[in-house]
Amino acid sequence: MSAIIPNKTIIQVKDIVKKYEVGNNEVTILKSISFDVHQGEFVSIVGPSGNGKSTLLNMITGIDRPSAGDITVTGRDVNKMSENQLAGWRGENVGIIFQFFQMLPALSLLQNVILPMDFANKYTPKERKARAMSLLELVGLADQADKLPSMVSGGQQQRAAIARALANDPPLLVGDEPTGNLDSRTAAEVFDLFSQLVDQGKTMIMVTHDKELAQRVPRRIEIVNGRIARDDVLQQKSLAVAN
Ligand code: ADP
Repeated sequence: MSAIIPNKTIIQVKDIVKKYEVGNNEVTILKSISFDVHQGEFVSIVGPSGNGKSTLLNMITGIDRPSAGDITVTGRDVNKMSENQLAGWRGENVGIIFQFFQMLPALSLLQNVILPMDFANKYTPKERKARAMSLLELVGLADQADKLPSMVSGGQQQRAAIARALANDPPLLVGDEPTGNLDSRTAAEVFDLFSQLVDQGKTMIMVTHDKELAQRVPRRIEIVNGRIARDDVLQQKSLAVAN
């Protein structure tokens, strides 16, 4: 895991505007959003449904592009990269965790975790299996490694998806409602896993509807009507100094 460097900016969002054409109308979903996220922060994005939270996340990951403004993530100008550059950058720098897990159904959990390593080529083919096994162990699934996603529970699939998100050791984890399809006990377990990863130096930003879990995230950004309504630091975290 990477050492935490105090105040190293991982995400810089500056004056982001997002507009969509809907029929003959232009709808502005995000209206001048700006914020920074530092390494080792755990941030939740909350707010009413349909207010642009997923759209914002998709711009941070480069899945979508803003109509105006700048987004720098892990030192790269996300908005200015080509699709190919984005795919390569994302593969090494961002682990994305989805509400519905998105595991490839025909591959075992182990193979699902190995796949991003095959794309990124950061680890040698020999290292990949051992690394995938150790990540499955980290999320408590070493004994399920050879099962297909359909053979394990939703919580187990999400934990495997977290192992997959960690495959190339990205500094940033992004979750779009990652506990939205889990019962409250399993959601709490998955949440604890995120907290543990943040304690180890990862930066995490997630959209959540779960008010109880959002209370436990150190920083909460509330988006209402396309603007930041609140940006609250709920818990101060003491950062370890990098050596
Ligand atoms: P949230 O995550 O807060 O629920 P979203 O970011 O998913 O909100 O969506 C915000 C708004 O943007 C919604 O009204 C949605 O219908 C609209 N929207 C999202 N993607 C598109 C698109 N590709 N074209 C037009 N409208 C879109």
